[in-house]
Amino acid sequence: MVEISDEERNVLLNLKFDDYVETMRDYAKEHNVPIIQDEGLAFLKAIVKLYKPKRILEIGCAIGYSSSMMSIYSDAEVYTIERDPIMYEQACKNIKALGLENKVHIIFKDALEITNELDGLDFDMIFIDAAKGQYTKFFQKFTTQLKDKGIVVTDNMLFHGFLDAEIHSRNLRQLVGKLKKYHEFLLTNPDYDTSIYNLGDGMALSIKK
Ligand code: SAH
Ligand code: MG
Repeated sequence: MVEISDEERNVLLNLKFDDYVETMRDYAKEHNVPIIQDEGLAFLKAIVKLYKPKRILEIGCAIGYSSSMMSIYSDAEVYTIERDPIMYEQACKNIKALGLENKVHIIFKDALEITNELDGLDFDMIFIDAAKGQYTKFFQKFTTQLKDKGIVVTDNMLFHGFLDAEIHSRNLRQLVGKLKKYHEFLLTNPDYDTSIYNLGDGMALSIKK
């Protein structure tokens, strides 16, 4: 058997990890899963590296891409919620393949139907990245478990530029209306300092006062 040093072994392990992450990105592209964009991910990475959350809650797991990345970059334990059975199945497979099953816990449920699954847990950070029409509800429901000085990051705040566009579809117009209300809700919320950044698909950072 060939002897390799610990350092070489780590390089090989990392290569395998990166390769696997690449297959997740390919899957997302092929199946139109809206995983976080590179720019948004870089922002998320900077936030978790600086803020060092110990426990993160994510709403909208999809295939487990952003949850894996957040747990890797921060050493945090991540709880993530997903309601779609195919996404849930993919996420379980991916988290296991990445060896993160002890750090990323996936809850298979509609987030608004969560009752006692997160009882007794408080979070340093919440990442909201699920149905855009429900952002305000997610925020109100889950920030009850956010620690003081905790942060909420929300993805897709700018919704591919739809916010300022003229829209003919009634459903889409309704959705945009709800997202605009969420902007207003965040920016006028006296308990949080919020900034909205024009990167990726638009990200909000709200810090609990
Ligand atoms: N955070 C992921 C992408 C999430 S895409 C990443 O960047 O890698 C949004 C996901 O939220 C979809 O898989 C969708 O099924 C899920 N979702 C939407 N509304 C939800 C809800 N109310 N409860 C749970 N999951 C929801
Ligand atoms: Mg998103």
